Amino acid sequence: MPEHGAPGRLRQILSYGRKVYGLDRLLGGMRDGRKKPRVPTDLVVRILLLLGLLRIRSFNALDPRLAEVGMQRALGLSCGERKASSVDTLAYSLHRAEVGTFRSAVVSMVKQAERNKVFREGWHGAMRVAALDGWEPHSSRSRCCPACLTRKVTVNQVEVTEYYHRYVIALLVDDGVEVVLDMEPILSADVRQELGAKGVTGHEGEQTAAKRLVRRLKETYGGWVDVVVADALFGNGPFLTTAAQSGFGTVVVLKKETDEPLREALALWQGKPPNQVVEDEKRGERVELWDCPGIETLSSYDGPVRVVRAVVHKAGKKEPSTWCFAVTGKATRLTAFQVMKVGRGRWHLENTGFNQWTQHWRLGHVFTHGPRALQALFWLFFLAFNLLQLFAYRQLGGYGRDRGKDATKTLRRLVDEMMGDLERFDLPFAWNSS
Ligand SMILES: [Zn+2]
Repeated sequence: MPEHGAPGRLRQILSYGRKVYGLDRLLGGMRDGRKKPRVPTDLVVRILLLLGLLRIRSFNALDPRLAEVGMQRALGLSCGERKASSVDTLAYSLHRAEVGTFRSAVVSMVKQAERNKVFREGWHGAMRVAALDGWEPHSSRSRCCPACLTRKVTVNQVEVTEYYHRYVIALLVDDGVEVVLDMEPILSADVRQELGAKGVTGHEGEQTAAKRLVRRLKETYGGWVDVVVADALFGNGPFLTTAAQSGFGTVVVLKKETDEPLREALALWQGKPPNQVVEDEKRGERVELWDCPGIETLSSYDGPVRVVRAVVHKAGKKEPSTWCFAVTGKATRLTAFQVMKVGRGRWHLENTGFNQWTQHWRLGHVFTHGPRALQALFWLFFLAFNLLQLFAYRQLGGYGRDRGKDATKTLRRLVDEMMGDLERFDLPFAWNSS
C-alpha cells in the first residue's frame, strides 16, 4: 500500500494496536443490546476509541468530525459523503453496552503485554505493584441515573444533595510503563437492590468496592501482581485480610497515631534513633527509616504487620515529611527504603492517572449519563490510555527513563501528532483485515 511520506502517528499507533494487541479482535468482542443496529457495534466502538485516543472533548465536538474525510478513513470507511454515525447513536449504544465485554478488551491487552514481557521483572525487589484508590470523575446537583451516589453538601449555608459516581481503580505502577488493570464502581442503594441485596439501607462504602476489586484482581491476573499499595483509608484489618486471602502483599499508608498498629510502633520507637539512614542523591533526599516487624496489636487482622516510618529531609526544605506504612505478606521482603518508594508509588495513580484523565482526557466531562454508558466509555478510554502508554514505552526510545516529572508530556505530544495525522489520512485504515 503506498504511503505519502513517513507513516503518520495515528496510522502507526492503530497499526501497532492491531499487530501487537489484536485491536480488531478486542473491539470486535464488545457488545451492546441494540436489535438490528444500522451502525454496527464494531464501528461505534471504533469511533469511541478514536474519541479517547484523540481526546476530543465532547460529543458536540465530535459530531462535525464524523463527516470529515480524514476521520472516516481512520475509521476504515471509504465514502466520505455521510456522517459515519450520529452521536445519538453512539449514546444509544453506550446505554445498552454489555460492560463486561468492554472490560475484557482492557484485560486482554494487559495480559498480552505481560506475555510480551513488557513489564519485565517488576519494580522494586522484583515485585509488581498495583496502586488502588477511589476516583470520582464528576458530580452534579441533579440526579441522572439509578447508579448515582448521593451526599449532603452545604452551599451558601443551605444543605443540598450532590450526585456523583465513584470507582475504585487499580493501576499497575512502575518506573517504566503504567496501565489500568481494573475498575470497580461503588454501588448505589438502587443498584444494590436491583442486584438482589437484602435489607439495603444505603450506598455501599468504598471499602466494600475495593475488597471486591482486590479479589477480582487475583481472579483476573493470578499471581502476576504481587503487592497492593493504597492510601490511609485502607489501613484497616478487614482490607489487609482480604488482600492477604487473595495472596497479595500490601503497603498501606498509616496516618492515625492512635490506631493500631501504628500506636504500638510509635511506642516502641519512642526516643530511639532510626534503624537506617539512606542518602538518596538522585532525589536530593536524606531518608531516616524506622522499621518494626511482627506487630500483632491489630485485632481485626490475623497475622503480623510490619510498620515502617520514613522521615524524608529534602535539600532546601526546612520541614521534613513523615510517612508511615503497614506492610504485610510478601511485601515484607522489601527493604524499608523500598517500602517507602512503593508507598510513594501510589502517587502515580494520581499523577499518571486521575489528574491526567481529568485535565487532558476530560474524563470528568459527562459524554452521556447512565450506569452502563459511563462504565463502557471509561473502559474504552482506558483501552486508549493503555495503548498509548504501551506504545510510548515500547516504541519511543527513552520514554520510561526520561519522562521525568511530567509523565503526561509525551502522551500529549502523541495526541497532537495523531490529530495532525487525521487530516493527512489518505487511504482508509485497514481494520478487520489481516
Ligand atoms: Zn448517575
